[in-house]
Amino acid sequence: MSEPTLVIVKPDGLQKSITGNVLTRLSETKLVIIGAKIKSVSRALAEEHYRHLKGKPFFEEIIKYLMGQYHTNRVLAMIYYGDDAIQKVRKVCGATNPEEAEPGTIRGSFGRITTKGIYENVIHASGNGSDAAREIKLWFEPDEIASETLYPTQEISIVNQKKRVWV
Ligand code: ADP
Repeated sequence: MSEPTLVIVKPDGLQKSITGNVLTRLSETKLVIIGAKIKSVSRALAEEHYRHLKGKPFFEEIIKYLMGQYHTNRVLAMIYYGDDAIQKVRKVCGATNPEEAEPGTIRGSFGRITTKGIYENVIHASGNGSDAAREIKLWFEPDEIASETLYPTQEISIVNQKKRVWV
């Protein structure tokens, strides 16, 4: 079954300049990229993304990690699409704990555990279909995705909305 999955190269991946290596590994899946952007991560976005982990002892640390407080405040967010995309991407990522990830995987090759005990594991990938839907809608607007039919959309009129434009 064709499905989308959200992939994020986290701030450690960007700071280490290994984005190309990560994309090369992901290309082994033969999936299609239907959305991609560099984004600065606010606390609100990080907390919403990891809301299922609220209450864990490492929650505050992973929020700071995703916001780039230990590296750079940029991530590369992407949507990969295709047959069995969620499992295919998770497989090339490897286990959450980089010490347990197979050496050939992205996390096994490039991840580490910090002295504070945080898994700096380079990449995020959606865990299941409902997580993928929630995460894609959180990170992307419908018009930023090269697919008309991913999830239902509606057209609304917004009056008096402020928008930043080029001078
Ligand atoms: P995944 O990213 O593999 O889906 P989780 O959603 O459970 O895993 O965790 C989110 C992120 O929090 C992980 O990618 C990792 O950076 C960090 N993390 C998860 N579990 C731990 C842990 N036990 N100790 C330290 N950091 C963790």
